[in-house]
Amino acid sequence: MSVENQIRSVTQLLQYDEQCAWRYYLQRVEGVTPRPAAWSHHGTAFHSAVEAYERSGRTMTEEAVVQLFADQYSLLVNEALVEEPDTDRWLAAGYTGGEDIERRYFLGMVQAAHYVKWRGEHPAKTWVTPDDETGVELYFEVELGGVAVRGYIDHLLVDEGGSVRVRDWKTGSMKNRFQLQTYAVAIRKLYDVEVNRADWYLAKDGRSSRPVKLDESTEDMVAERFAAMDAGVKRGDFPANPSYSCRFCDVSHACFFKK
Ligand code: SF4
Repeated sequence: MSVENQIRSVTQLLQYDEQCAWRYYLQRVEGVTPRPAAWSHHGTAFHSAVEAYERSGRTMTEEAVVQLFADQYSLLVNEALVEEPDTDRWLAAGYTGGEDIERRYFLGMVQAAHYVKWRGEHPAKTWVTPDDETGVELYFEVELGGVAVRGYIDHLLVDEGGSVRVRDWKTGSMKNRFQLQTYAVAIRKLYDVEVNRADWYLAKDGRSSRPVKLDESTEDMVAERFAAMDAGVKRGDFPANPSYSCRFCDVSHACFFKK
């Protein structure tokens, strides 16, 4: 499907609207192969381990969750090493690519173990949709401002008064309120339930963030941004935004605007 007609997502919107629309163009229109980064495999493997734990009704042992992280991370890193064996070409902040691959293996195992302990102390119930789907990595597809938007929500929990709380699992430090607002709007629209608060589980800190209030986040607010982003892509409008973040950009090797 051409990029003009693709279903949108929060990731696409943030890349286009907040990071750099030229990066969006290079990745999604030109099809530039991104440079690998251990942080991305760390995040994916952590999500897989925590998802399996939550789907098991928190019956998986800590040891099994940690092992799942280690297996997934090793698999993803090894696959990426076949594509890019030179670890000096891997993106890494403050480390060599090789150092970063190794340290995240151990860091991710510690974080997976800690998650299991933390959940034992914070045993809020996972929300189940009216169609009996468990609120873990829940897929949604909704229309917002005339634009089809889809995504997966990491975790939905039963909150105070029976409302639903959105939770996003983070291994990095980039937190984005708009992501939580979109998820809240999607869940309200699809299931006609109250969603008033959200938070992030911060693997770096081993705890959830303070709750973010979402009761004033409306569908119109969210829809307006998706409509503007969709129109920009359809116009072929991809302004570059060279900045400090170019050093974390995985297509910078193909960019003339790089800072
Ligand atoms: S290197 Fe910088 S300007 Fe170029 S695409 Fe990446 S973020 Fe945008």
